[in-house]
Amino acid sequence: MSGPARRIRSFGTSIFTEITALAAAHDAVNLGQGFPDFAAPSFIKEAAMRAIREDYNQYAPAPGVPRLRAALAARWERLHGVAVDADTELTVASGATELLHDALLAVVEPGDEVIVFEPTYDAYVPDIIMASGVARPVALRPPDWRWDPAELRAAFGPRTRAVILNTPHNPTGKVFARAELAELAALCNQHDTLVITDEVYSEITFDGAAHIPMATLPGMRDRTITIDSMGKTFSVTGWKVGWSIAPERLTRAIRAVHQFVTFTSSVPFQEALAEGLTLAETNGYYAELRAAYTARRDRLTAVLRGAGLAPMRAQGAYFLLTDTTAFGFPDDVAFCRHLCTEVGVAAIPTSVFYADPKTAPPLARFCFAKRDETIDAAATRLRKLRPLH
Ligand code: PMP
Ligand code: GLN
Repeated sequence: MSGPARRIRSFGTSIFTEITALAAAHDAVNLGQGFPDFAAPSFIKEAAMRAIREDYNQYAPAPGVPRLRAALAARWERLHGVAVDADTELTVASGATELLHDALLAVVEPGDEVIVFEPTYDAYVPDIIMASGVARPVALRPPDWRWDPAELRAAFGPRTRAVILNTPHNPTGKVFARAELAELAALCNQHDTLVITDEVYSEITFDGAAHIPMATLPGMRDRTITIDSMGKTFSVTGWKVGWSIAPERLTRAIRAVHQFVTFTSSVPFQEALAEGLTLAETNGYYAELRAAYTARRDRLTAVLRGAGLAPMRAQGAYFLLTDTTAFGFPDDVAFCRHLCTEVGVAAIPTSVFYADPKTAPPLARFCFAKRDETIDAAATRLRKLRPLH
């Protein structure tokens, strides 16, 4: 009997799907899967409704709606002082998820190695496998989530084609510093390696932490594919519009894949983002976004501390990590299962983001992209949390 291809046999159900289903079944407060439960800004919703009313209904050019590409290129230039050619270097697709897939299919030859940092966002390894590559994990170590320089150097070899770097980082909240990026850049330059960066939390940073795109480091523009998404920035994770910025030769390769994966992402939402980006330049949106997320982070920090779950520092993204050891469960998976089914709060066990979960610190990830009421409801439930013995 024919069955699934060998290539995909290791793919289970995503932990986010699993925990969200478990949360629904147990009526738990869902601080697991990362998505905002509050309203999106009205200026972006109005723009989307206008686009639908004005009949933006048909396929856009495969690389994306031209005025969206122009607005994204203009923002990049304003933020980083480097011009991006919207016609040849920028591609819009269905979220960062599609662009990660497109980028890996575009550059990885069978057997090529791709370095990933653990904890690793769940899509990277399956994307590498679908591109017939081999993932080469390098650990980031708590509490500062640094790599061991010797381990990183040793991971580079003749088959290394690319490195995937996520900053601000999910799940740790780390924002990589310039010195760390420079260390990685030097190795990539030395070994002629590409970098695929996942910068979907680029606009969500705290306490003055600066998000630095790898592409802005000396020598890196020509070997970096930068991927970002409107999902986090405009609190619309279900709209699925993302983009990549890459030198022309790599953009051509990404577009070659994208045209046969989805061809184009949803046009009214592309139009809405184009308008929203322009409005956000002058209406104070980005500062408000950061202030609101700082307040949510601080609120959830206080709640977790109150429950004996002191969280680690987060400089960016919208998650807090807490050590689960003190509660006496065999691992973070058992802790999160208990938390969801018995206490009524859903969180993500982070050992699932490791090739070998036994090497992972037992941490639970709590999402704070939530309304105050949701965080407060979690606080009430967490009063029930007790150590096992
Ligand atoms: N990368 C990271 C690190 C993420 O956390 C997410 C989603 N939360 C994505 C990629 C996916 O982005 P998108 O929704 O734009 O596909
Ligand atoms: N990126 C989201 C998270 O980390 C989940 C996205 C998804 O469910 N695929 O929670």
